[in-house]
Amino acid sequence: MKHTFAPVQTNVSLVDVEHDIAAYWEKEHIVEKYLHRNDASDKRFSFLDGPITANNPMGVHHAWGRTYKDLWQRFHTMRGYKGRYQNGFDCQGLWVEVEVEKELGVRNKKDIENLVEGDKRASIAKFVELCKERVKKFSGIQTEQSKRLGYFMDWDHSYYTMSDENNYMIWHFLKTCFDKGWIYKGKDSVPWCPRCETAISQHEMLTEDYKELTHETVFLKLPITTKGWEHTSLVIWTTTPWTIPANVAVGVNVSYTYAVWEHPETKDRIVILSKDADGNVPMRHLKNTDVPVDAYIFGADHTYKFVKEFSGKDLVGLTYEGPFDAFPRVQEAKAENPKTFHTVVDGSDIVVSEEGTGLLHVAPGAGKEDFDLGKKEHLPIISVISDDASYLSGMDEFSAKNAKKHPELIIDTLKSKGDRFLLKTMQYTHRYPACWRCKTELVWKVAEEWYIAMDVEEKTPNVKGPKTLREQMKNTAKMINWHPSFGLDRELDWLSNMHDWLISKKNRYWGLALPIYECPSCGHFEIIGSKEELQKRAVHGWERFEGHTPHKPFIDEVVIACEKCGQEVHRINDVGNVWLDAGIVPFSTMVDPKTKKLSYTTDKTYWKEWFPVNFITESFPGQFKNWFYSMIAMSTVLEKRNPFETVLGYASVVGEDGRPMHKSWGNAIEFNEGAEKIGADVMRWMFIREDPEQNVLFGYKKADETRRKFHLMLWNTYNFFVTYARVDGFSPGASFVPSHMLDQWILSRLHSVIKTVTVSLSAYDVKTAAGSLEAFVADFSQWYVRRSRDRVGATVEHGDDKTQCYETLYTTLVTLCTLLAPCMPYMTDHMYQNLTKKLSVHLADWPEADETLIHKDLEEQMVLVREIVERILSKRKEVKIGIRQPLHQCTINNAQSLISPALVQLIKDETNIKSINVVLGEGEMEVVLDTTLTEELRDEGKARETVRAIQLLRKEKGCTIDGSISVTLPKELETLPEALLAYIKKETLATSFVWGNSLEISTGTN
Ligand SMILES: [Zn+2]
Ligand SMILES: [Zn+2]
Repeated sequence: MKHTFAPVQTNVSLVDVEHDIAAYWEKEHIVEKYLHRNDASDKRFSFLDGPITANNPMGVHHAWGRTYKDLWQRFHTMRGYKGRYQNGFDCQGLWVEVEVEKELGVRNKKDIENLVEGDKRASIAKFVELCKERVKKFSGIQTEQSKRLGYFMDWDHSYYTMSDENNYMIWHFLKTCFDKGWIYKGKDSVPWCPRCETAISQHEMLTEDYKELTHETVFLKLPITTKGWEHTSLVIWTTTPWTIPANVAVGVNVSYTYAVWEHPETKDRIVILSKDADGNVPMRHLKNTDVPVDAYIFGADHTYKFVKEFSGKDLVGLTYEGPFDAFPRVQEAKAENPKTFHTVVDGSDIVVSEEGTGLLHVAPGAGKEDFDLGKKEHLPIISVISDDASYLSGMDEFSAKNAKKHPELIIDTLKSKGDRFLLKTMQYTHRYPACWRCKTELVWKVAEEWYIAMDVEEKTPNVKGPKTLREQMKNTAKMINWHPSFGLDRELDWLSNMHDWLISKKNRYWGLALPIYECPSCGHFEIIGSKEELQKRAVHGWERFEGHTPHKPFIDEVVIACEKCGQEVHRINDVGNVWLDAGIVPFSTMVDPKTKKLSYTTDKTYWKEWFPVNFITESFPGQFKNWFYSMIAMSTVLEKRNPFETVLGYASVVGEDGRPMHKSWGNAIEFNEGAEKIGADVMRWMFIREDPEQNVLFGYKKADETRRKFHLMLWNTYNFFVTYARVDGFSPGASFVPSHMLDQWILSRLHSVIKTVTVSLSAYDVKTAAGSLEAFVADFSQWYVRRSRDRVGATVEHGDDKTQCYETLYTTLVTLCTLLAPCMPYMTDHMYQNLTKKLSVHLADWPEADETLIHKDLEEQMVLVREIVERILSKRKEVKIGIRQPLHQCTINNAQSLISPALVQLIKDETNIKSINVVLGEGEMEVVLDTTLTEELRDEGKARETVRAIQLLRKEKGCTIDGSISVTLPKELETLPEALLAYIKKETLATSFVWGNSLEISTGTN
């Protein structure tokens, strides 16, 4: 017998199938053929990959985005669109530095600068080289892992954000910002990591980096020095006692009422908040009860006596003395601005009644809000800590001691001064920000940093529309299709509230060399916009730089002359914010394959073919502030338009237990482990079937369920088809018009699904597509194949119906393979190759729906049929009559519509009932079962039970599905009518019957 199809493994290992297919792809160059199949097409699908940080191996959570990225590129490729298939790696930045530091076992920048003993330049060169090597190593690992996921990309041409193209393209961007008048150097109080010794930009501060911490907080007394206020102190509260030496003022809210309280014995007087703007006494939570603010500050059973009240307004202008006024650093600040030093100022914008004493400790050197208030009130700034949070000189015994590591320094000193300054301390638990890389608690410190201004009008002439970057970016954000749609609001919210973009990073090594050249003698600064411009401007050092990438330390060999005063100027020491690196990729990654040059800065032809990109997809937590933000900013500056048309954001992957994946909690899964345990196809489907807006629960239990309910169900239909097609010697290819109701139905369903999947994937709605595919596979397996078992196999005569059934099964399976190929590239290719003998499903075209095959009314009727069947089967269960016992009759009352005779036949066959009456009517559908059993019905039931029992024995004995057997029947069946015995014979492929004590079978050979 000629077999068209290779036999199918029943207990398939999908992971083994994946390894076989991966080897096949390699051998047959399938990826290459896929990448180039649409080379001649004039349709484009421009996809841009958000670069993955090449710093560690992938986790399963990376597979979510990569599955989406692959899915939509494959979908468009199968539909004839040409793509670029370019993967990206994010390379530069603190994250890599921190890992290299760990590898080297170095702890701070002194160690890094002494890697080559005594040679700072060589040390930095070595460190930067190690960072590059780490990126190369992990980009290689991630590439292999992505291939294992079945992700088809042009892996030999990934982009790297450390490339010259990327770095110089950012220079061009910064120069453009400079020309618009948007780059400035500013002094600001910035969040700062004392371990990394660098500023943490607002973009980098994610909510997950806040930790629940308990600090010893201080209620500090500040004795008033204004006449008439003798023996009276203002009381402030601070959670960061190390900032007390930086105090320059006390803020009050002028709409609040304040009260003076007096201690009965010491006569010591204290000023605190009394009533808020509405005249209510603010309450505080203390030891599980709510107490008024005075009880909170003095203790619940305090003896302080109320003296009088003042409006906040009356306090403005008072002066006071602080505990560290003798420090030279504090004296200097006083001299700088004696009028405002240690005064009470109007801080109504930031003084709240919900916490503290209603009097705000203002330290512009150590807090962002303080800094802004200080600017407004012309307050001096006292800087107290250095880059690693050590106290600066001019602070007596504190100098050189570390403020963060030794918070007790301040508190002990205050205690040593008795009750003059310290009212009390209190343990307080709050959420406090930590460095996103090294988890060190952040501090705030004043630093000179470089910014892109959000609210300065651009100075380029004839600007149309809004003139500030903030407003221009909002316009750009509105040009984008956001999925989910709340994305636009989130982005606009961020754009409305964000500060100027902090683009510099101090004291770091591995990053963009910010091309800012600031003259040490006249203070003039300028920005160099390209490598060529730098060469032109170089007065010396070019030869020592040439041949190197534009990184530290070699880029800093080049010295230019100040265009104002002629003085020699070096590049500033800072590197760039990493989001510059990723934000520029819509421009920097489009290298013209013909000229090998960056298209945007040469002739733009190639770039215009692919910009703006059609589609990006990334996990949205964080990216509104980061990648989406930086791309919008850079594209707005360079082109005043959107860099991408559509963005699909998705949520986060968490463990099966609903908790974030964490190594120490045992619910994190490494990518390789996951792929080898559950297979890439199952992993991909687990992501595809979910709603992108919701977090995905991921784990092995869910994986197994997905595999059983979807992949194995599909596999079993494939197995069914191939097994019987081999027995019957079926070869596909005959064109036919389906005449059987079941064939018409499943083909109608199939073409409806083609439509649904095509429409939803075009609209980036993956959940609808996945849902319709899952429902289809279930219909196909649980109804079509189930009801078609009697139409094929050795017991059935050859004929049109059999052929049509096979053709239907075949068409459905092949079409399903193409529809599912973008989702499950391995399994579908395995099946497709065996079914079609073609090279690969990934070179196939996307199926098109044939409207003439779609019969909506038939699909709807079948839904009703299946509901009726379900009701009858549950009724059978209720009365405990098994499915193999035939029944005479059943009536369906209140059916919504009439059912064609062919469909009624399906109900009869499935429920084993001789006659079905369908009665139309309103109201709840009702099933009335006639349970009368005649002798005849009982005999028929016995015959069916016997067939079933023999089939089981055949299976146990490993008998082939077309092999004949001889059967020993138990004597009690001798009374069965001849016709039923013939039925048993036919259904079981029995050649002979003998009578014995129990049921036995023997195969032809023994
Ligand atoms: Zn850090
Ligand atoms: Zn100058």
